[in-house]
Amino acid sequence: MRAYDVVAWAIDGDIYCADCASEGAAPVFAENEADVPQHCGTCHEYIPGDLTDCGRGYVREAVADAIRRGDVAGVALTTWADLVLRWGVVERCQARAEWRKARGAR
Ligand SMILES: [Zn+2]
Repeated sequence: MRAYDVVAWAIDGDIYCADCASEGAAPVFAENEADVPQHCGTCHEYIPGDLTDCGRGYVREAVADAIRRGDVAGVALTTWADLVLRWGVVERCQARAEWRKARGAR
């Protein structure tokens, strides 16, 4: 996803997916970071986008809490847990690349 890709539409402080946005809504670009995961104000579909460090911490805590409570139907496990898994893969790849760089390997 490129920084200037439109991921959602905003109007009156709420955010909407492309299917639910009404006329006059302003574009929300992929480069915008949020403190919490964004969901459409009408259909509640998850809107992909970057999160701040605070936002990532919030999601990790919400997922861990949902696992402890066994809340398998809540948004934390049905939607956000996937984000945590993807971040984990990216972080492991970055750590491996840094390790290789530090060792002078290609
Ligand atoms: Zn929607």
